[in-house]
Amino acid sequence: MLNFTVGPVMSNEEIRKIGGEQIPYFRTSEFSKIMLDSESLLKKFFKAKDSSKVIFMTGSGTASMDASVLNLFTKNDKILVVNGGSFGHRFCEICSVYDLDYTEIKCELGKTLTKEQLVPYDNKGYTAFIVNLDETSTGVLYDINLISDFCKKNNLFLLVDSISSFLCDPFDMDKLNVNCVITGSQKALALAPGISLIVVDDKAIDRIYKNNPKTYYFNLKDYLDNGKRGQTPFTPAVGILLQLNRRLHMIEDIGGIDVEVKRAEMSAKYFRDLIKELPFEIVSDNLSNAVTPLSPKDESKSAYKLFELLKDNYGIWVCPNGGNLKDKIFRVGHIGDIKNSDYDKLIYSIKDIIKKNLW
Ligand SMILES: *Cc1c(COP(=O)(O)O)cnc(C)c1O
Repeated sequence: MLNFTVGPVMSNEEIRKIGGEQIPYFRTSEFSKIMLDSESLLKKFFKAKDSSKVIFMTGSGTASMDASVLNLFTKNDKILVVNGGSFGHRFCEICSVYDLDYTEIKCELGKTLTKEQLVPYDNKGYTAFIVNLDETSTGVLYDINLISDFCKKNNLFLLVDSISSFLCDPFDMDKLNVNCVITGSQKALALAPGISLIVVDDKAIDRIYKNNPKTYYFNLKDYLDNGKRGQTPFTPAVGILLQLNRRLHMIEDIGGIDVEVKRAEMSAKYFRDLIKELPFEIVSDNLSNAVTPLSPKDESKSAYKLFELLKDNYGIWVCPNGGNLKDKIFRVGHIGDIKNSDYDKLIYSIKDIIKKNLW
């Protein structure tokens, strides 16, 4: 199996081996030590301030999106949400579930957010800004410098979903003045799904302690309190957390976050150069290194059909799109344990499909 989706993705052998081991009991000083070590590596990789904290949530990325919105914001907030695809839409839905006062900034599919689009919201009493750094559904990487400057100028609390962007695109939480950032285990961390991570700065911690959300499992105060001693309020996905610690050390061993981001960049570039010779168009502007969205040049050809042909005849998984993009777009991910030779195989298989007139 070759998996080029955007999560779950392929894990390396060492990580998979940990997944096959017995799960230890976790209310121990040994486990606490591992958790505190992971916290310090994560802070380093996100370039977070020393005083920041990491919340280890058992639940997929959406659990952390949900918990962050619920714990960070109140009815007194006026929130801007960038919506350029299904993950931006998800934040809007979460805000709406909690009756929060939010305004959508709509971006056309595959288009980045421009300075002009922010002008109507300048100096209008907003208090917070939410963005998915890489809108994974289209692969657009929003201009975080532009957003950061806008938030600084307007004194907005900035919540960033970097679930698919973490380890793929450059990011500096401290310099960018990001107050809260989220990622998940099954994207570029390339672990099993089930853990997501929320990094919070002083302002976010303050908001969490002042807020009183109606929730039991998702009350982030409990996570912060328990986190001080390297623990979580409830039984976490212990096995994945052990894999996480190993994975973070593997990144540290190759030279840290900047080397890992460079690796993702080279991997994306290798594929994007290869695909030029095939009848596809890269559909979005300003791409993240995490994923390449492609559309068949011949509009009568279905992207979904190609996904099925690759899966059923070659054991290769690319990532289909949903909804009205199902037949128009498919995506090829650059996260997980993928080598350049794997892309060669993918390209060879697509050529074979075209040659055999299967599509
Ligand atoms: C994958 C992803 C999520 C979370 O999805 P889950 O299925 O809940 O893990 C959220 N935002 C972005 C940008 C993503 O890529």
